[in-house]
Amino acid sequence: MDLSFIINELGEDREQYFNAIAPPIMQSSNFAFETVAAMRDLLLDEYKGFLYSRGHNPTIDILRQKLAALDGAEDALVFGSGAAAIFTGVLSVVQQGDHVICVRDPYNWARQLFEIILPKFGVETTFVDGTDIANFEKALRPNTRLIYLESPNSFTFELQDIKAVAQLARSRNITTMIDNSYCTPLYQQPHLMGIDLCLQSATKFISGHSDTMAGVLTGSQEKIRRIFVSEYLNIGSGIAPFNAWLLLRGLRTLEIRLQRSADSTRQVLAWLKEHPLIHKVFFPLDPDFPQFELANSQMKGAAGLLTIQLKVERREQVELFCNSLKHFLMAVSWGGHESLAFPACASLEADSFDPGEPKHKMVRLYIGLEDPAYLIKDLEQALSKI
Ligand SMILES: *Cc1c(COP(=O)(O)O)cnc(C)c1O
Repeated sequence: MDLSFIINELGEDREQYFNAIAPPIMQSSNFAFETVAAMRDLLLDEYKGFLYSRGHNPTIDILRQKLAALDGAEDALVFGSGAAAIFTGVLSVVQQGDHVICVRDPYNWARQLFEIILPKFGVETTFVDGTDIANFEKALRPNTRLIYLESPNSFTFELQDIKAVAQLARSRNITTMIDNSYCTPLYQQPHLMGIDLCLQSATKFISGHSDTMAGVLTGSQEKIRRIFVSEYLNIGSGIAPFNAWLLLRGLRTLEIRLQRSADSTRQVLAWLKEHPLIHKVFFPLDPDFPQFELANSQMKGAAGLLTIQLKVERREQVELFCNSLKHFLMAVSWGGHESLAFPACASLEADSFDPGEPKHKMVRLYIGLEDPAYLIKDLEQALSKI
């Protein structure tokens, strides 16, 4: 399916809403029926239509169709956050006594789910260095039910060989799930590489304006339908119609926003690599990145996030650099219009800074939609302060 068709037309039936160009926000919790027979029909199978907005809703339905198609998947569910998509997806796969293999250093709330919540229900997780397929093989147990990936991760960008992991999992009847937030479906399509469930935080690039939270889970219709009638309806963490509408609006410009951010990221990266106070840069499509070959073979692009390691010895220098930035905002998240800085040392107690630990001197940058020259000037003046 053409990207232009998906973004501009798929799922939109303007005759249903006065030929309005922008789809309506169907802000209704419930939907009425003409006959008992029609009502019964949906009560017995809510997946089929509009009954109650904890399930399906017309505005959200347009979004589901577009997001599924972007992923090359049959169906999608949209959640109130990426974390809800992770929780619901994982919960739909595992049961008591099961074992999970998860990449080392996944998104923080995925790690909490595997480390703190699932053990309460008798589900154990092994965390592995996902850069080598042999580590997945070694971690396999007879009761392994799920392999959870994140490629690349969103701080230091380690990748997994997605095809190889999917093949290994399929041969053992193990479900695979991947966090594809960094790439979005425009730059990586895990379903085409054999992954069963694909999720992303739509709070980031899909929304694109730092004004809504959302998550997406895609897969085969059989799997998504099963999740819908059970975990999705039961947890009740589906997206609200207004937030779904914001994502539809974000999708219209997704392609050009990614292009702009990707172009600017390359310019900023090239400048940073020449700066004497930058010890190292991390970006998956930089030829110096350790997994560049793999990144180049399974990703169609990369935009926005890159990490720098400063050539400094003291926490105060890292902080001075970040505090001196005038146009980069210091904040978590990414994928919006605005450029951001996130120092790793902000997640540590101030006195546990260790100058021998490379990670403590890292600052993640997100390159938004501003003029790259404007951003470089800001980095230059902030680096000159240290
Ligand atoms: C932000 C993020 C999430 C979680 O999404 P929320 O929308 O914040 O709940 C998951 N994975 C990655 C890689 C993220 O960056």
